[in-house]
Amino acid sequence: MKPFSHINLSPAMGENLKRIGYELMTPIQEGTIPPILKGKDVLAQAKTGSGKTAAFGIGLLERMNPDRYRVQALILCPTRELAEQVSGEIRRLAAYRHNIKVLTLTGGMPLRKQEHSLSHQAHIVVGTPGRIHKLLTRGTLVLDEVGTLVLDEADRMLDMGFIDIIREIIAYAPEKRQTLCFSATFPEDIKELSREIMDSPREITVDSQHAPGVIRQAFFQIDSRDRGRAVVNLIREYRPESTVVFCNTKDACRRVQEELVTYGLHALALHGDMEQKERNETLILFSNGSSPILVATDVAARGLDIGDLAAVINYNLPFETETYVHRIGRTGRAGKTGLAFSLVKPDEQFRLDKINELTGESFSAGPLDCTVPEDFTGLSPAMVTLSVNGGRKNKISAGDILGALTRKGGLTADDVGKIDRLEFITFVAVRSETADRALKILSRDRIKGKQLRARRHD
Ligand code: ADP
Ligand code: MG
Repeated sequence: MKPFSHINLSPAMGENLKRIGYELMTPIQEGTIPPILKGKDVLAQAKTGSGKTAAFGIGLLERMNPDRYRVQALILCPTRELAEQVSGEIRRLAAYRHNIKVLTLTGGMPLRKQEHSLSHQAHIVVGTPGRIHKLLTRGTLVLDEVGTLVLDEADRMLDMGFIDIIREIIAYAPEKRQTLCFSATFPEDIKELSREIMDSPREITVDSQHAPGVIRQAFFQIDSRDRGRAVVNLIREYRPESTVVFCNTKDACRRVQEELVTYGLHALALHGDMEQKERNETLILFSNGSSPILVATDVAARGLDIGDLAAVINYNLPFETETYVHRIGRTGRAGKTGLAFSLVKPDEQFRLDKINELTGESFSAGPLDCTVPEDFTGLSPAMVTLSVNGGRKNKISAGDILGALTRKGGLTADDVGKIDRLEFITFVAVRSETADRALKILSRDRIKGKQLRARRHD
């Protein structure tokens, strides 16, 4: 991997990348940033977690004219969470230019407020197809000056049936534009769409296979009613720092989460029926270590940057064999060894056969003890999340929170984990044993001259 200094970026962008800790380009970045900077259309394929956002983010920021307050880039994402994540990453990448405005426009948020924000103009719009289309037909979003159009997680958007709406959105954009398409897979419909909307694109594919041995896979033959306890036992034995338990349905998701909690494990569910606010909070608690287990459906977890998982457990084997490869690909990243456990009901043996066929392996489902020892009282998470009712819009910075917590007699910097700042609320993870003290400090001390309310999220 080469350093960013290897390509021709503006010095300010170079400095900012250093500041946020990006030294080396990931392979997809190395392959796509140079053609993007030249204004070429790019069709790129790389697995989740390979740094696709920064690949197009750096490219489009470098080509932007900040003095022109018009939408110059439109990024389409399949879901609200992904749009939020992309906006967050773009804001980080644009931090060296204070005047770049990034707007997130997704469903589930008040239309009027979004239209009001749009009337103040933005340089970059990140959104989901449904909402973007609505704003276009109402005439409140104008794409006349869009120079770059990005389809992020294009395969997922097509899976969700957005093809026609995407075509309609593109018709609002200038014909002379740069189009970038990022996808985890390259099915035929993506290729077809790209022929239609792109101009002789550069195709860049980064191998999606893991180095062998990085993921330890095991399969267990389990009767349907024992599966919850099987999950408990696997977590009890291996104690992974972070685990996603995949279920095929929302119902299973809820049931498994409840069962894990009754055994004293801290687990949260993530599925499509949850309110946006609840989903955001769940992801924050999971990614900062306050809830080491997430029980999720594929739809809810697809594409999310939930980092280096220590373990993936398949409560059900997925219907599609490719989904199995996607699920386990979330562990064993960055040179670490990941665990991938799958529970196989007797009537699911054919799915295991298909997995073996696709991956060229010959796994068989072995036995697993499903009796949870009586003296097992659960595991408590390393971190606890606190929040204060002030965020980006209240000019509260991560430094303000860290400063307040580590002032004389307070916590040490090591006690404080990830800080997530939203518009009007900030979440901070602290080591569990310091949580009471931290809560007292945050409820007592003024931050930026304001008395904020603090609470604990357990
Ligand atoms: P993808 O869209 O391919 O799934 P993301 O863009 O979400 O991947 O990036 C995954 C993670 O890698 C993010 O946390 C991001 O901040 C980080 N990242 C991206 N590029 C770099 C880099 N060059 N060096 C270090 N970390 C990076
Ligand atoms: Mg992505």
